[in-house]
Amino acid sequence: MTAPNAPITQDVLTIPRKLPEGGKTNLVGLTRDQLREALMAAGTAEKQAKMRVGQIWQWIYHWGVRDFAQMTNLAKDYRALLAENFVIEVPEIVSKQVSMDGTRKYLLRIAGGHEVEAVYIPEETRGTLCISSQVGCTLTCSFCHTGTQKLVRNLTAGEIVGQVMVARDDLDEWPVPGAPKDETRLVSNVVLMGMGEPLYNFDNVRDAMKVVMDGEGISLSRRRITLSTSGVVPEIARCAEEIGCLMAVSFHATTDEVRDRLVPVNKKWNIETLLNALREYPRLSNSERITFEYVMLKDVNDSDADARRLVKLIAGIPAKINLIPFNEWPGAPYVRSDWERIEAFADIIYKAGYASPIRTPRGEDIMAACGQLKSATERARKSRAEIEAEAGL
Ligand code: SAH
Ligand code: SF4
Repeated sequence: MTAPNAPITQDVLTIPRKLPEGGKTNLVGLTRDQLREALMAAGTAEKQAKMRVGQIWQWIYHWGVRDFAQMTNLAKDYRALLAENFVIEVPEIVSKQVSMDGTRKYLLRIAGGHEVEAVYIPEETRGTLCISSQVGCTLTCSFCHTGTQKLVRNLTAGEIVGQVMVARDDLDEWPVPGAPKDETRLVSNVVLMGMGEPLYNFDNVRDAMKVVMDGEGISLSRRRITLSTSGVVPEIARCAEEIGCLMAVSFHATTDEVRDRLVPVNKKWNIETLLNALREYPRLSNSERITFEYVMLKDVNDSDADARRLVKLIAGIPAKINLIPFNEWPGAPYVRSDWERIEAFADIIYKAGYASPIRTPRGEDIMAACGQLKSATERARKSRAEIEAEAGL
Protein backbone atom coordinates (compact mmCIF):
# COMPACT_ATOMS: atom_id res chain seq x y z
CA MET A 1 0.00 0.00 0.00
CA THR A 2 1.18 3.47 -0.73
CA ALA A 3 0.42 6.30 1.63
CA PRO A 4 -1.88 8.82 -0.04
CA ASN A 5 0.73 11.53 -0.07
CA ALA A 6 3.73 9.45 -1.06
CA PRO A 7 5.65 10.78 -4.05
CA ILE A 8 4.36 9.48 -7.34
CA THR A 9 6.62 6.95 -8.97
CA GLN A 10 5.94 5.17 -12.19
CA ASP A 11 5.33 1.74 -10.75
CA VAL A 12 3.15 2.18 -7.73
CA LEU A 13 0.20 3.45 -9.62
CA THR A 14 0.27 1.25 -12.66
CA ILE A 15 -1.86 -1.84 -12.52
CA PRO A 16 -0.22 -5.10 -13.49
CA ARG A 17 -0.72 -6.29 -17.05
CA LYS A 18 -2.46 -9.50 -15.98
CA LEU A 19 -6.15 -8.82 -16.09
CA PRO A 20 -8.11 -9.78 -12.98
CA GLU A 21 -10.83 -11.59 -14.92
CA GLY A 22 -9.63 -14.88 -16.30
CA GLY A 23 -6.00 -13.96 -15.73
CA LYS A 24 -5.35 -13.44 -19.44
CA THR A 25 -2.66 -11.00 -20.53
CA ASN A 26 -3.66 -8.10 -22.75
CA LEU A 27 -1.33 -7.94 -25.74
CA VAL A 28 -2.12 -4.30 -26.51
CA GLY A 29 0.69 -2.01 -25.40
CA LEU A 30 3.39 -4.67 -25.05
CA THR A 31 6.65 -3.75 -26.73
CA ARG A 32 7.94 -6.23 -29.32
CA ASP A 33 10.31 -7.70 -26.71
CA GLN A 34 7.56 -8.04 -24.14
CA LEU A 35 5.28 -9.63 -26.71
CA ARG A 36 7.99 -12.13 -27.59
CA GLU A 37 8.48 -13.03 -23.93
CA ALA A 38 4.74 -13.39 -23.41
CA LEU A 39 4.40 -15.68 -26.43
CA MET A 40 7.29 -17.83 -25.27
CA ALA A 41 5.89 -18.07 -21.76
CA ALA A 42 2.67 -19.38 -23.32
CA GLY A 43 4.56 -22.12 -25.15
CA THR A 44 5.74 -20.58 -28.44
CA ALA A 45 9.05 -22.14 -29.49
CA GLU A 46 11.99 -19.77 -29.25
CA LYS A 47 12.89 -20.34 -32.90
CA GLN A 48 9.46 -19.21 -34.04
CA ALA A 49 8.89 -16.42 -31.57
CA LYS A 50 10.25 -13.58 -33.68
CA MET A 51 8.16 -14.50 -36.69
CA ARG A 52 5.04 -14.88 -34.55
CA VAL A 53 5.61 -11.44 -33.03
CA GLY A 54 5.74 -9.95 -36.52
CA GLN A 55 2.55 -11.70 -37.61
CA ILE A 56 0.53 -10.91 -34.51
CA TRP A 57 1.80 -7.33 -34.46
CA GLN A 58 0.52 -6.76 -38.00
CA TRP A 59 -2.85 -8.22 -37.19
CA ILE A 60 -3.31 -6.04 -34.13
CA TYR A 61 -1.78 -2.76 -35.23
CA HIS A 62 -1.97 -2.77 -39.01
CA TRP A 63 -5.33 -4.48 -39.55
CA GLY A 64 -6.95 -3.64 -36.24
CA VAL A 65 -8.03 -7.23 -35.57
CA ARG A 66 -9.28 -8.06 -32.04
CA ASP A 67 -10.07 -11.73 -32.44
CA PHE A 68 -7.37 -14.39 -32.72
CA ALA A 69 -9.68 -16.46 -34.92
CA GLN A 70 -9.22 -13.88 -37.69
CA MET A 71 -5.44 -14.29 -37.77
CA THR A 72 -5.63 -16.53 -40.79
CA ASN A 73 -1.92 -16.98 -41.42
CA LEU A 74 -1.56 -18.74 -38.06
CA ALA A 75 -2.37 -22.42 -37.59
CA LYS A 76 -5.71 -23.17 -35.93
CA ASP A 77 -4.06 -24.79 -32.89
CA TYR A 78 -1.84 -21.82 -32.41
CA ARG A 79 -4.77 -19.42 -32.59
CA ALA A 80 -6.48 -21.50 -29.92
CA LEU A 81 -3.39 -21.31 -27.74
CA LEU A 82 -3.34 -17.54 -28.12
CA ALA A 83 -7.01 -17.25 -27.22
CA GLU A 84 -6.46 -19.35 -24.08
CA ASN A 85 -3.71 -17.10 -22.82
CA PHE A 86 -4.29 -13.64 -24.19
CA VAL A 87 -6.81 -10.96 -25.02
CA ILE A 88 -6.61 -7.96 -27.35
CA GLU A 89 -8.38 -5.34 -25.34
CA VAL A 90 -8.87 -1.59 -25.68
CA PRO A 91 -10.76 0.83 -23.41
CA GLU A 92 -14.51 0.76 -23.70
CA ILE A 93 -16.34 3.82 -25.06
CA VAL A 94 -18.82 4.85 -22.36
CA SER A 95 -20.06 7.83 -24.32
CA LYS A 96 -19.17 9.85 -27.36
CA GLN A 97 -20.09 13.48 -27.88
CA VAL A 98 -19.74 15.21 -31.22
CA SER A 99 -19.35 18.98 -31.23
CA MET A 100 -20.90 21.36 -33.75
CA ASP A 101 -17.40 21.78 -35.18
CA GLY A 102 -16.85 18.04 -35.67
CA THR A 103 -14.69 17.53 -32.58
CA ARG A 104 -15.39 14.18 -30.93
CA LYS A 105 -14.95 13.61 -27.23
CA TYR A 106 -14.77 10.04 -25.98
CA LEU A 107 -15.34 9.07 -22.39
CA LEU A 108 -13.49 5.78 -21.96
CA ARG A 109 -13.71 3.18 -19.24
CA ILE A 110 -10.53 1.40 -18.19
CA ALA A 111 -9.77 -1.40 -15.70
CA GLY A 112 -10.94 -0.63 -12.18
CA GLY A 113 -13.96 1.26 -13.53
CA HIS A 114 -12.01 4.49 -13.94
CA GLU A 115 -12.68 6.86 -16.77
CA VAL A 116 -10.50 9.02 -18.97
CA GLU A 117 -11.17 11.24 -21.95
CA ALA A 118 -9.71 11.44 -25.43
CA VAL A 119 -10.59 14.09 -27.99
CA TYR A 120 -10.41 13.91 -31.79
CA ILE A 121 -10.05 17.24 -33.57
CA PRO A 122 -10.54 17.17 -37.35
CA GLU A 123 -8.91 19.96 -39.35
CA GLU A 124 -8.62 20.57 -43.06
CA THR A 125 -5.19 19.08 -43.50
CA ARG A 126 -4.91 16.81 -40.49
CA GLY A 127 -6.72 15.11 -37.66
CA THR A 128 -5.32 15.35 -34.16
CA LEU A 129 -6.09 12.94 -31.39
CA CYS A 130 -5.53 14.30 -27.90
CA ILE A 131 -4.93 11.45 -25.45
CA SER A 132 -4.63 11.12 -21.68
CA SER A 133 -1.71 9.64 -19.73
CA GLN A 134 -3.17 9.53 -16.21
CA VAL A 135 -6.55 9.41 -14.50
CA GLY A 136 -6.52 12.87 -12.94
CA CYS A 137 -3.21 14.62 -12.28
CA THR A 138 -0.90 15.05 -9.30
CA LEU A 139 -0.15 18.58 -10.33
CA THR A 140 -2.50 21.36 -9.52
CA CYS A 141 -2.32 24.07 -12.12
CA SER A 142 -4.88 26.54 -10.92
CA PHE A 143 -6.49 27.17 -14.33
CA CYS A 144 -6.86 23.49 -15.28
CA HIS A 145 -9.98 21.45 -14.62
CA THR A 146 -8.04 18.17 -14.54
CA GLY A 147 -5.87 19.66 -11.81
CA THR A 148 -8.85 19.78 -9.46
CA GLN A 149 -9.30 16.03 -9.78
CA LYS A 150 -7.38 13.62 -7.58
CA LEU A 151 -4.84 11.45 -9.29
CA VAL A 152 -6.23 7.98 -9.35
CA ARG A 153 -3.55 6.15 -11.24
CA ASN A 154 -1.20 6.10 -14.18
CA LEU A 155 -2.51 4.59 -17.38
CA THR A 156 -0.80 1.44 -18.62
CA ALA A 157 0.93 1.47 -22.00
CA GLY A 158 -1.98 -0.60 -23.30
CA GLU A 159 -4.52 1.97 -22.16
CA ILE A 160 -2.55 4.74 -23.86
CA VAL A 161 -2.18 2.87 -27.17
CA GLY A 162 -5.80 1.74 -26.73
CA GLN A 163 -7.02 5.34 -26.99
CA VAL A 164 -5.52 5.59 -30.48
CA MET A 165 -7.06 2.25 -31.44
CA VAL A 166 -10.49 3.22 -30.14
CA ALA A 167 -10.43 6.44 -32.17
CA ARG A 168 -9.45 4.50 -35.29
CA ASP A 169 -12.32 2.09 -34.60
CA ASP A 170 -14.78 4.94 -34.24
CA LEU A 171 -13.51 6.69 -37.37
CA ASP A 172 -13.46 3.39 -39.25
CA GLU A 173 -9.83 3.94 -40.12
CA TRP A 174 -8.36 0.43 -40.25
CA PRO A 175 -7.33 -0.67 -43.75
CA VAL A 176 -9.61 -3.02 -45.62
CA PRO A 177 -7.78 -6.07 -47.04
CA GLY A 178 -7.61 -5.90 -50.81
CA ALA A 179 -8.70 -2.26 -51.02
CA PRO A 180 -6.32 0.24 -52.66
CA LYS A 181 -3.90 1.76 -50.15
CA ASP A 182 -5.30 4.97 -48.73
CA GLU A 183 -2.59 7.41 -47.69
CA THR A 184 -4.94 9.95 -46.15
CA ARG A 185 -5.00 9.72 -42.43
CA LEU A 186 -7.86 10.60 -40.15
CA VAL A 187 -5.73 10.30 -37.02
CA SER A 188 -2.61 11.90 -38.51
CA ASN A 189 -1.27 13.44 -35.30
CA VAL A 190 -1.28 12.49 -31.66
CA VAL A 191 -0.82 14.95 -28.81
CA LEU A 192 -0.30 13.95 -25.20
CA MET A 193 -2.33 16.89 -23.95
CA GLY A 194 -5.29 15.19 -22.33
CA MET A 195 -5.56 14.35 -18.67
CA GLY A 196 -2.38 13.93 -16.66
CA GLU A 197 1.30 14.79 -16.74
CA PRO A 198 2.90 12.42 -19.27
CA LEU A 199 6.41 12.79 -17.85
CA TYR A 200 5.18 11.44 -14.49
CA ASN A 201 4.20 8.25 -16.32
CA PHE A 202 7.30 8.15 -18.47
CA ASP A 203 7.89 4.44 -19.07
CA ASN A 204 4.31 3.67 -20.07
CA VAL A 205 4.07 6.74 -22.30
CA ARG A 206 7.37 5.80 -23.97
CA ASP A 207 6.36 2.17 -24.56
CA ALA A 208 2.97 3.26 -25.89
CA MET A 209 4.49 5.77 -28.30
CA LYS A 210 6.96 3.14 -29.54
CA VAL A 211 3.99 0.95 -30.44
CA VAL A 212 2.17 3.83 -32.14
CA MET A 213 5.31 4.77 -34.14
CA ASP A 214 6.19 1.21 -35.21
CA GLY A 215 6.38 1.07 -39.02
CA GLU A 216 4.57 -2.25 -39.27
CA GLY A 217 1.55 -1.06 -37.39
CA ILE A 218 -0.12 2.28 -36.76
CA SER A 219 3.05 3.83 -38.09
CA LEU A 220 2.80 7.45 -37.02
CA SER A 221 6.01 9.39 -37.49
CA ARG A 222 7.69 10.66 -34.32
CA ARG A 223 7.30 14.16 -35.76
CA ARG A 224 3.55 13.77 -35.63
CA ILE A 225 3.53 13.11 -31.91
CA THR A 226 3.76 15.96 -29.43
CA LEU A 227 4.18 15.50 -25.70
CA SER A 228 3.13 18.38 -23.50
CA THR A 229 4.68 18.77 -20.07
CA SER A 230 4.11 21.26 -17.31
CA GLY A 231 7.89 21.28 -16.83
CA VAL A 232 9.11 18.07 -15.21
CA VAL A 233 12.71 19.03 -15.85
CA PRO A 234 14.54 15.78 -14.97
CA GLU A 235 12.59 13.82 -17.60
CA ILE A 236 12.83 16.29 -20.49
CA ALA A 237 16.09 15.01 -22.00
CA ARG A 238 14.89 11.41 -21.75
CA CYS A 239 11.88 12.35 -23.78
CA ALA A 240 14.08 13.29 -26.74
CA GLU A 241 16.39 10.34 -26.30
CA GLU A 242 13.91 7.57 -25.63
CA ILE A 243 10.80 8.71 -27.50
CA GLY A 244 12.08 11.26 -30.00
CA CYS A 245 8.76 13.05 -30.33
CA LEU A 246 8.19 16.80 -30.41
CA MET A 247 7.97 18.68 -27.15
CA ALA A 248 5.50 21.26 -25.90
CA VAL A 249 5.85 23.07 -22.61
CA SER A 250 3.09 24.63 -20.58
CA PHE A 251 4.87 27.89 -19.94
CA HIS A 252 2.03 30.28 -19.15
CA ALA A 253 3.92 32.98 -17.24
CA THR A 254 7.02 35.13 -17.50
CA THR A 255 7.90 35.60 -13.83
CA ASP A 256 8.41 32.93 -11.19
CA GLU A 257 5.94 34.70 -8.96
CA VAL A 258 3.09 34.28 -11.43
CA ARG A 259 4.20 30.86 -12.67
CA ASP A 260 4.34 29.57 -9.08
CA ARG A 261 0.66 30.40 -8.83
CA LEU A 262 -0.41 29.06 -12.22
CA VAL A 263 1.83 26.02 -12.56
CA PRO A 264 2.90 25.09 -9.01
CA VAL A 265 5.52 22.61 -10.21
CA ASN A 266 7.46 25.82 -10.92
CA LYS A 267 8.32 25.92 -7.21
CA LYS A 268 10.36 22.78 -7.78
CA TRP A 269 11.82 23.65 -11.19
CA ASN A 270 11.63 27.36 -11.86
CA ILE A 271 11.64 29.22 -15.16
CA GLU A 272 15.42 29.40 -15.40
CA THR A 273 15.90 25.69 -14.67
CA LEU A 274 13.20 24.81 -17.19
CA LEU A 275 14.66 27.01 -19.92
CA ASN A 276 18.12 25.57 -19.37
CA ALA A 277 16.74 22.06 -19.81
CA LEU A 278 14.98 23.13 -23.01
CA ARG A 279 18.13 24.78 -24.39
CA GLU A 280 19.81 21.41 -24.01
CA TYR A 281 16.95 19.44 -25.53
CA PRO A 282 18.87 16.97 -27.66
CA ARG A 283 16.70 17.25 -30.75
CA LEU A 284 16.43 20.99 -30.84
CA SER A 285 16.45 22.36 -34.38
CA ASN A 286 14.43 24.71 -36.51
CA SER A 287 12.36 21.94 -37.97
CA GLU A 288 11.69 20.47 -34.55
CA ARG A 289 10.96 23.56 -32.56
CA ILE A 290 9.65 23.48 -29.05
CA THR A 291 6.08 24.68 -28.65
CA PHE A 292 5.57 27.06 -25.75
CA GLU A 293 1.97 26.87 -24.67
CA TYR A 294 0.66 30.04 -23.11
CA VAL A 295 -2.85 30.22 -21.72
CA MET A 296 -4.31 33.74 -21.96
CA LEU A 297 -5.76 34.79 -18.60
CA LYS A 298 -7.26 38.23 -18.33
CA ASP A 299 -5.14 40.62 -16.23
CA VAL A 300 -2.95 37.78 -14.98
CA ASN A 301 -0.35 37.06 -17.67
CA ASP A 302 -1.52 38.91 -20.77
CA SER A 303 0.16 42.34 -20.70
CA ASP A 304 2.50 43.78 -23.34
CA ALA A 305 5.26 43.58 -20.75
CA ASP A 306 4.59 39.85 -20.42
CA ALA A 307 4.87 39.39 -24.19
CA ARG A 308 8.17 41.26 -24.25
CA ARG A 309 9.55 39.30 -21.30
CA LEU A 310 8.50 36.07 -22.97
CA VAL A 311 10.49 36.72 -26.14
CA LYS A 312 13.51 37.72 -24.08
CA LEU A 313 13.34 34.61 -21.95
CA ILE A 314 13.19 32.18 -24.83
CA ALA A 315 15.83 33.93 -26.94
CA GLY A 316 18.00 31.35 -28.69
CA ILE A 317 15.53 28.49 -28.42
CA PRO A 318 13.95 27.40 -31.73
CA ALA A 319 10.37 27.89 -30.67
CA LYS A 320 6.80 28.49 -31.62
CA ILE A 321 4.41 30.09 -29.15
CA ASN A 322 0.94 28.68 -29.04
CA LEU A 323 -1.47 31.10 -27.43
CA ILE A 324 -4.43 29.31 -25.87
CA PRO A 325 -7.46 31.45 -25.02
CA PHE A 326 -8.45 30.27 -21.56
CA ASN A 327 -11.24 27.71 -21.66
CA GLU A 328 -13.59 28.32 -18.81
CA TRP A 329 -15.06 25.59 -16.67
CA PRO A 330 -17.60 25.72 -13.82
CA GLY A 331 -16.00 27.42 -10.82
CA ALA A 332 -12.82 28.43 -12.64
CA PRO A 333 -11.00 31.29 -10.90
CA TYR A 334 -9.96 33.02 -14.15
CA VAL A 335 -11.46 34.73 -17.17
CA ARG A 336 -10.33 34.53 -20.79
CA SER A 337 -8.37 37.54 -22.06
CA ASP A 338 -10.20 39.79 -24.49
CA TRP A 339 -9.68 39.00 -28.14
CA GLU A 340 -7.94 42.34 -28.88
CA ARG A 341 -5.54 41.68 -25.99
CA ILE A 342 -4.69 38.23 -27.32
CA GLU A 343 -4.04 39.68 -30.76
CA ALA A 344 -1.85 42.48 -29.40
CA PHE A 345 0.13 39.91 -27.41
CA ALA A 346 0.49 37.69 -30.49
CA ASP A 347 1.67 40.65 -32.51
CA ILE A 348 4.56 41.46 -30.18
CA ILE A 349 5.73 37.86 -30.33
CA TYR A 350 5.33 37.67 -34.07
CA LYS A 351 7.33 40.86 -34.59
CA ALA A 352 10.11 39.38 -32.48
CA GLY A 353 10.38 36.60 -35.07
CA TYR A 354 8.36 33.77 -33.59
CA ALA A 355 5.32 32.05 -34.96
CA SER A 356 2.49 32.87 -32.58
CA PRO A 357 -0.65 31.00 -33.60
CA ILE A 358 -3.73 31.51 -31.48
CA ARG A 359 -5.27 28.12 -30.79
CA THR A 360 -8.91 28.24 -31.83
CA PRO A 361 -10.91 26.64 -29.06
CA ARG A 362 -12.45 23.43 -30.37
CA GLY A 363 -15.32 21.44 -29.01
CA GLU A 364 -16.25 24.02 -26.40
CA ASP A 365 -19.92 23.09 -26.55
CA ILE A 366 -19.05 19.60 -25.32
CA MET A 367 -16.38 20.70 -22.80
CA ALA A 368 -13.68 19.08 -24.92
CA ALA A 369 -11.30 22.02 -25.10
CA CYS A 370 -7.85 22.11 -23.48
CA GLY A 371 -7.99 21.86 -19.74
CA GLN A 372 -11.69 21.13 -19.54
CA LEU A 373 -11.35 17.38 -19.27
CA LYS A 374 -12.43 15.78 -16.10
CA SER A 375 -14.19 12.47 -15.84
CA ALA A 376 -17.66 12.32 -14.45
CA THR A 377 -16.89 9.50 -12.04
CA GLU A 378 -13.94 11.17 -10.35
CA ARG A 379 -15.49 14.34 -9.07
CA ALA A 380 -13.76 14.30 -5.71
CA ARG A 381 -11.99 17.59 -5.18
CA LYS A 382 -8.59 17.82 -3.64
CA SER A 383 -8.15 19.64 -0.38
CA ARG A 384 -5.58 22.41 -0.21
CA ALA A 385 -3.36 20.26 2.03
CA GLU A 386 -3.49 17.35 -0.40
CA ILE A 387 -2.65 19.60 -3.32
CA GLU A 388 0.41 20.93 -1.56
CA ALA A 389 1.57 17.56 -0.30
CA GLU A 390 1.20 15.93 -3.70
CA ALA A 391 3.08 18.70 -5.41
CA GLY A 392 5.84 18.28 -2.82
CA LEU A 393 5.57 21.91 -1.82
N1 SAH B 1 -0.15 17.96 -18.18
C1 SAH B 1 0.37 18.37 -19.42
C2 SAH B 1 -0.52 18.06 -20.60
C3 SAH B 1 -2.00 18.28 -20.45
S1 SAH B 1 -2.65 19.89 -20.48
C4 SAH B 1 0.69 19.83 -19.37
O1 SAH B 1 0.30 20.50 -18.44
O2 SAH B 1 1.37 20.30 -20.27
C5 SAH B 1 -2.56 20.46 -22.17
C6 SAH B 1 -2.47 21.99 -22.26
O3 SAH B 1 -3.71 22.63 -21.94
C7 SAH B 1 -1.44 22.58 -21.31
O4 SAH B 1 -0.68 23.56 -21.92
C8 SAH B 1 -2.31 23.15 -20.24
O5 SAH B 1 -1.64 24.10 -19.50
C9 SAH B 1 -3.46 23.71 -21.05
N2 SAH B 1 -4.66 24.00 -20.26
C10 SAH B 1 -5.04 23.44 -19.10
N3 SAH B 1 -6.22 23.98 -18.67
C11 SAH B 1 -6.58 24.90 -19.61
C12 SAH B 1 -7.71 25.76 -19.75
N4 SAH B 1 -8.70 25.75 -18.87
N5 SAH B 1 -7.77 26.56 -20.83
C13 SAH B 1 -6.79 26.52 -21.76
N6 SAH B 1 -5.70 25.72 -21.69
C14 SAH B 1 -5.59 24.91 -20.62
FE1 SF4 C 1 -1.94 18.47 -14.74
FE2 SF4 C 1 -1.31 19.61 -17.11
FE3 SF4 C 1 -3.63 20.21 -15.86
FE4 SF4 C 1 -1.30 21.08 -14.87
S1 SF4 C 1 -2.20 21.64 -16.86
S2 SF4 C 1 -2.97 20.14 -13.69
S3 SF4 C 1 0.06 19.36 -15.33
S4 SF4 C 1 -3.04 18.20 -16.67
